[in-house]
Amino acid sequence: MRIGEKERRILRGRRVRFALLLLLPLVFSCASTASLQALRNDLQSLPPHTVAAPPLEDFRDVRGAVHVHSYLSHDSEGRPEEILRAAAEAGLQFIIMTDHTNPRIFEEGMHGWQEGVLVIRGMEIIQEGASLLAIGMNEYLDHRRMPLQEAVDRLKAEGVLVFAAHPRTYPGWRRLKGLDGIEIYDIFDDATDHKGRYFNYFFDILFVFDRYPDEVFLSILDRPEKELLLWDGATQSRRVAGIAGNDAHQNVRLFGRQIDPYARSFRFVNTHLLVATLDQTALLEALAEGRGYVSFDILADATGFRFGARGEKYDGRMGEALPFREGIELYARAPQSGRFRLIKDGVVVDRGEGTTLSFYPKGKGVYRVEWLLLLGDRWRPWIYSNPIYLR
Ligand SMILES: [Zn+2]
Repeated sequence: MRIGEKERRILRGRRVRFALLLLLPLVFSCASTASLQALRNDLQSLPPHTVAAPPLEDFRDVRGAVHVHSYLSHDSEGRPEEILRAAAEAGLQFIIMTDHTNPRIFEEGMHGWQEGVLVIRGMEIIQEGASLLAIGMNEYLDHRRMPLQEAVDRLKAEGVLVFAAHPRTYPGWRRLKGLDGIEIYDIFDDATDHKGRYFNYFFDILFVFDRYPDEVFLSILDRPEKELLLWDGATQSRRVAGIAGNDAHQNVRLFGRQIDPYARSFRFVNTHLLVATLDQTALLEALAEGRGYVSFDILADATGFRFGARGEKYDGRMGEALPFREGIELYARAPQSGRFRLIKDGVVVDRGEGTTLSFYPKGKGVYRVEWLLLLGDRWRPWIYSNPIYLR
């Protein structure tokens, strides 16, 4: 009798625990759904784009995805036609292909104008603790036969641009000379940054991803603190262009769901460049000079964003080095109202809210701008300009 009572109590306890376990995801997904719906409402109620083109005389603002993998990489099966379709869907004008080291890139990889998108050929080189994007390659280089610095020198001599990818997880780039810039954001690095959030990702993907795919994907987005710190340090001695790494593979499938289709990776974050004409030469020049900015266009289209320096004698653009003079004005204009910060040598020197910024610097420095948008009760990173160097 007493044993039966005890067993019943154990069974009842088990049933309660089981019910709670079933209830937990339900409660979690309700809370999650509410905040995702709030985010979606805010995204959909943003006012229409308010900055009229062109952003600069003689220049147009083009948007693209840098760091893209296809079936020519061991970790992707993406077909060229899928990539081009996704680029069109995301409204991209260019993509930069960077398959992992493979001579076949130069036999069968896409390049040039394809279906209205300018495709630049490149390669991702992982060697000596560095991950580098070689951009604008015409022929294969077997970099593994030589020290990495020698490979960089050879690429540079051929007019190829070299950027550090994953600057935080592959710190080997810091020993190299001659790099054009770094990824100041990489989707893969951000997604794998907070191991503590894996539990949330797991539930979101299982229960709410089907209804809120973009909003769930947005939960990975944080200010890239470490990358910005590295960048602000590197730009103290020379120009270092900042780009976004889409690192698109279309290879993450969880519970039967494709989490990272090319179109979503391409819409998430973009590298914007200011070019006079859209061809490979002009694009590589703008990339090397850092004449552009990074923006999370999945939040709002940043096309037309402008950051410049004007004085009596000149009108300076992002990426430019200018002599400092008293009375110079740094100005910026964003196509949505948000919160901005002006950063000098890694330190915030001005902040405010709205669509315009005007600041009269007191001295030399490396100045760049960040813009944030308030969406779903959180300020989210939106735009990161390249610096203007007042020397
Ligand atoms: Zn990659």
